[in-house]
Amino acid sequence: MTTLPRLVAFDLDDTLAASKSPIDPRMAAIMVRLLGVVEVCVISGGQIGQFHMQLIDNLTDVDDATLARLHLMPTCGTQYYLHRDGGWTQIYAEYLTEDQKSRALAAVEAEARKLGYWESDTWGPILEDRGSQITFSALGQAAPVAAKVAWDPTGLKKNTLRETVQELLPDLEVRSGGSTSVDITRQGIDKAYGMKKLAELTGVPLDDMLFVGDRLDENGNDYPVLALGVECFAVEGWEDTAAFLETLIPKFAAASV
Ligand SMILES: [Mg+2]
Repeated sequence: MTTLPRLVAFDLDDTLAASKSPIDPRMAAIMVRLLGVVEVCVISGGQIGQFHMQLIDNLTDVDDATLARLHLMPTCGTQYYLHRDGGWTQIYAEYLTEDQKSRALAAVEAEARKLGYWESDTWGPILEDRGSQITFSALGQAAPVAAKVAWDPTGLKKNTLRETVQELLPDLEVRSGGSTSVDITRQGIDKAYGMKKLAELTGVPLDDMLFVGDRLDENGNDYPVLALGVECFAVEGWEDTAAFLETLIPKFAAASV
C-alpha cells in the first residue's frame, strides 16, 4: 500500500488488549485518536460481551460521530455491530440453525466423555452456545491459565477431540480455539470471512485496508487475513500496536493538510 489505508482493522486479544483484559487507558486514548482520522474495525472470535468489557466500555471522551466510524465484528464477523442512535446496535447475526446446534453440542459432549476429557470440577460451564458458534472449554470459560496449561500441555487432547468431533460433523467446521477450547461453526468462518463481509458492508476494497494482529503465523487465528491478501502488520502485544499507531496517526494528519 503506497497510500494510507481507508480502514484499519484489528484483532482484539493480545493486539489491542492483554488476553481477556480491559484495554490499557493509553491504548484507549490512541484508539479514539485513530477513530478521528480513519474507519476502524475490530474483529475477534469472541462475543460482543467481550468487546464491551475489553474495548468499547473503556473508550472515554468520544462523541457519537467518532464512534460511528468503529465497526465491531464479534465471532469472526458472523455478527456485526455499529454505534447508532447513541448505542451499539446489532446490524446482523448469522446464527447456526437449531439442528446444527443440537448436533454440535451432542457430538462434542459424547466424544469428550468417551475420551475421558469431560471434567467435573470446572470454572463455569464446559459448553457455550454463542449463537453463531458452539464452544467447548475443557475446564470452563473462566479457568485460570495455569490450570489450562496443566490440563493439556502439548495440545494433544484438544487436537484429538477436534479431529473426532469433525468426523461426526462433516457439514460443520470444528476448529481449535484457545488453549483448551474447540469451536464449532458453519464451514469457512474465520477472520478472512469477516474481512470479506466488511469489504461488502463498507464498500472499502480489501486492497485499501490494513490489518493488525498478533497471530499472523501460519497456525494463528489471524493468518487467514494475510492469506486473503490484505496488507498486514504483525505485533506481539498491545504495546507494539500502540507504538505503530503513534507513527501511523500523524501520517493521516499530514496527508489531509
Ligand atoms: Mg490475538
